[in-house]
Amino acid sequence: MRLKIALLFAVLCFTPCFAQADGSYTDIQTDINIILQSYQGYIKGSEIKNDLTYLLLSNGEKLVYDDKLPKSFEEKLENPDLKDTLSLVYPLKNPIDKMNLNDDPGRFRSLALLKAVYGKNKKDVRTNLIRVNFCGKKLFFNKQNGAAEALKNIGAELLALTKIQPQLKKYITPLGGTFKWRNIAGTSRLSPHSFGIAIDLNPKRSAYWRGHSQTTIAEFSRLNYPPEIVAIFEKNGFIWGGKWYHFDTMHFEFRPEIIAKAR
Ligand SMILES: [Zn+2]
Repeated sequence: MRLKIALLFAVLCFTPCFAQADGSYTDIQTDINIILQSYQGYIKGSEIKNDLTYLLLSNGEKLVYDDKLPKSFEEKLENPDLKDTLSLVYPLKNPIDKMNLNDDPGRFRSLALLKAVYGKNKKDVRTNLIRVNFCGKKLFFNKQNGAAEALKNIGAELLALTKIQPQLKKYITPLGGTFKWRNIAGTSRLSPHSFGIAIDLNPKRSAYWRGHSQTTIAEFSRLNYPPEIVAIFEKNGFIWGGKWYHFDTMHFEFRPEIIAKAR
């Protein structure tokens, strides 16, 4: 722990000034600090080169904060820079009803960052998986960056919640699953399940945007999904796929930077 705090202090002290011509100083510095704090030990620092800001990862790679390329929504899904990944603010409000068009906070993911933290391929990720006791089931989850520990805490809190409110059990079990090296349905992008940082609760109590009309998607309400379950995940650094315009209500994903920005 002391080493982690010392590392963070070193990183923050040597983070260069992010003042930009467009006056977005605070936004850049806030975003960079959020990423540094959410991925402590995986990022060495940052640098500015040819007017672009980069994060220097501990594995030797560097990631551009803002590539300054104009991108459509689809292009941000395919190839986001770090700024894009934090560009939509996740709502911590519970319960929540409708979401605005393409408001999908957390669906822009930096695969390079996820690979650096949780494993660069299926074999690497597998070596980082540990078994977690979750509501009486043993699940595989990634031990890096405190993901498995966070899931374990959620399991304990959900167990306590369902003792008081047993009617909520049906939303949790039978579970959909955690780790699976695969692409997101209908895309060639790796799913966060590939990194062992996402869990699907009971698929029978879930709704998924694919297969619905644009009108149904736009009018979809999240009010009938238990806000108590969502709040427990969020408290522990997970986002809920229900809070996406393109909803996936059984899906919860460990994304401490998205929750940190929301706060
Ligand atoms: Zn999922």
